[in-house]
Amino acid sequence: MPKIPLVDLHAQYETIKPEIDAAIQRTIDRTAFILGPETEQFEEHFAAFCNVKHAIGLDSGTAALHLALMALGVGAGDEVISTTHTFVATTEPISLLGARPVFVDIDPRTYNIDPAKLEAAITPRTKAIIPVHLYGQPAEMDALLDIARKHNVPVIEDAAQAHGALYRGQKIGSLGEMACFSFYPGKNLGAYGDAGALLTNNDELAKKIRMLRNHGRTSKYEHDITGYGFRMDGIQGAILDAKLGHLPEWNAARRAHADYYTELLSNVDDSIVLPYEPAHVCAVYHLYVIRTRKRNELMQYLKEQGIEAGIHYPVPLHLQPVYKNLGYARGDFPETERAATEILSLPLYPELTHPQMERVVETMRDFHKNN
Ligand SMILES: *Cc1c(COP(=O)(O)O)cnc(C)c1O
Repeated sequence: MPKIPLVDLHAQYETIKPEIDAAIQRTIDRTAFILGPETEQFEEHFAAFCNVKHAIGLDSGTAALHLALMALGVGAGDEVISTTHTFVATTEPISLLGARPVFVDIDPRTYNIDPAKLEAAITPRTKAIIPVHLYGQPAEMDALLDIARKHNVPVIEDAAQAHGALYRGQKIGSLGEMACFSFYPGKNLGAYGDAGALLTNNDELAKKIRMLRNHGRTSKYEHDITGYGFRMDGIQGAILDAKLGHLPEWNAARRAHADYYTELLSNVDDSIVLPYEPAHVCAVYHLYVIRTRKRNELMQYLKEQGIEAGIHYPVPLHLQPVYKNLGYARGDFPETERAATEILSLPLYPELTHPQMERVVETMRDFHKNN
């Protein structure tokens, strides 16, 4: 039996090979390797796609989060609030800038930061709130933005997993003061290497971030502030621009696959909890995440049958060794801790086929018959 991977980037390349090859060749012919016209065109198109004024091409999503916080002046003595159920890149830049990550538990149905628990985490030192649209599911933005406005704290969306998702009909990435996207190869819109973008409607922030990504430059030999070399590669800009046109159809395929999994899984076993999508959002299923108390055994069984599943994420951030100094302990965020032991991401990518999904679900059915 052929293996079923969690994601299959080569399958996608096969469907768009001529466009990608031409985009790469064009960039080489123009020798526009850093930023350049290909990246500028992608920035324009991605800003329009997200319905935001500025998109700034960077070399990773982590760089986008770093520059977003830096542009707000976050530094020593400050606090930045986020969820503990996310990839470590969401909060790494907080620590690197000398500020303190403050964690909030999740809503166990959506796996996103729980607005009901947000306000208690706000202090006079809070400089930003970073909700994550995890698994392609928009965070509960109305409630979050209400609280943020009341306390006059800017919201930075971590949209690394949610390109094209909608919250009450509005594009993710257009809802906060800034938004950070990753184009890591496995994301819904993925480059062929590292890449990211920062989006904002704020002209001043955009100007500052364009300088920060490029050594604080105002012109070739003039540097006004201390910055970084966080620029997007021209080849990545060209590839992303070619792929952006396909994103709506790819996201639609992910949604259709999620529906099919949900239909197939509805009568497999009562212990399985399926993804929940509130009526006012349109999720883009970066991952299809179920939960079950028999997670480890099920994952092992799937692996033995050639099916790759994943855990996003097995260790909550507040329990990571790197954050020992923050003083959090097991039991502080019970919903996240329980989710971490029960969640399982099934194979999902646009090119996945119905027979593959049927085999995943039949294998799960076999497991439950014997367990
Ligand atoms: C992928 C990811 C990032 C980091 O993006 P990179 O481009 O890999 O730096 C940040 N936050 C979340 C939630 C992610 O999934």
